[in-house]
Amino acid sequence: MSGPAAAAAGPAAVRAYVGLGANLGDARASLRAALDALARLPATRLAAVSSLYRTRPHGPQDQPDFLNAVAALETALAPLELLERLQAIEAAAGRRREGPRWGPRTLDLDLLLHGAARLRTPRLVLPHPRIAERPFVLVPLAELDPALEVPGAGPVAALRARCGEAGILAREPAPW
Ligand code: ADP
Ligand code: MG
Repeated sequence: MSGPAAAAAGPAAVRAYVGLGANLGDARASLRAALDALARLPATRLAAVSSLYRTRPHGPQDQPDFLNAVAALETALAPLELLERLQAIEAAAGRRREGPRWGPRTLDLDLLLHGAARLRTPRLVLPHPRIAERPFVLVPLAELDPALEVPGAGPVAALRARCGEAGILAREPAPW
């Protein structure tokens, strides 16, 4: 690697993908602020951001629609280090963890992929275990890089074709 990416992220940088979601408060502003926070991470460059999608909640239906996007990072942070940074950004955005699984949240940052890493620990599973069944992840991910290989699952374009677009309500003008 050469140029500004190498300068910001170092020679050992890999490409990582982060799924962003929010459905409480000013969700657009939360995602915008989260992207700013991602761009400020050490040894990391924010390389690309997908379109913004309005989606139906994937858990309990009695909650507002979600806004979702995916960000591509070039980062020299190790997977667990990056997860901890993502959780700190969630916490700073007022995310509280006592709510129901898949319940409403001010900000959800999922580490979708970290280079070719395959990992299964109590705190971190890579690739994120539910990528292949989530149109709100696969549609923006395929938009960023259709040829991307999801380790153990194949090219993202094929996964996206298989899962369809259920639950994606609209593509919205993005504030980035
Ligand atoms: P969800 O996003 O599935 O609704 P949470 O954001 O509350 O759930 O995350 C639950 C836990 O999942 C976190 O405490 C984290 O340690 C774990 N986890 C495992 N793998 C990942 C990953 N790839 N990205 C984000 N969190 C993960
Ligand atoms: Mg999460």
